[in-house]
Amino acid sequence: MPLRIGQGYDLHRVVPDRPLFLGGVAIPAPGWGLLGHSDADVLLHAVTDAILGAVAAGDIGQWFSDQDPRWHGISSALLLRQVLDAPALQGWQLVNLDCTVIAQRPKLAPHMPAIRTSLAGLLGCPLDAVSVKAKTNEGMDAIGREEAMAAWAVVLLQRS
Ligand code: MG
Repeated sequence: MPLRIGQGYDLHRVVPDRPLFLGGVAIPAPGWGLLGHSDADVLLHAVTDAILGAVAAGDIGQWFSDQDPRWHGISSALLLRQVLDAPALQGWQLVNLDCTVIAQRPKLAPHMPAIRTSLAGLLGCPLDAVSVKAKTNEGMDAIGREEAMAAWAVVLLQRS
């Protein structure tokens, strides 16, 4: 098949004493970071899982165990790079990426251009192939109560 679709989802707990990274961008949001073994970039984790899903190559937790000290505090951009460079992804190129970040706070609209540019750079694709949307959860559930942040991603890959 010359085309493959992949879907990814991730959620991280909000904590006050960590930085916030989304799509490889450091978002200035004091008191509003994400807990995780790596830099906890929830958007990059969803994107990475979508890419792995497209080629049926497992998930990010299998590739980068949270028990492995090598990945402690690591930039999720490096994890994505490692996946893109892996044999499973050779011969595939990204057609487009569409993702949604769900966060009650902070306001993400001002950061969207930087996040899209970062993702396009990491994925080596044109800006118009990258869509990032932001939603709140209308005050409902753990995300709405500002306890967590989540991301969904869908990718389409084609044989290069
Ligand atoms: Mg994660």
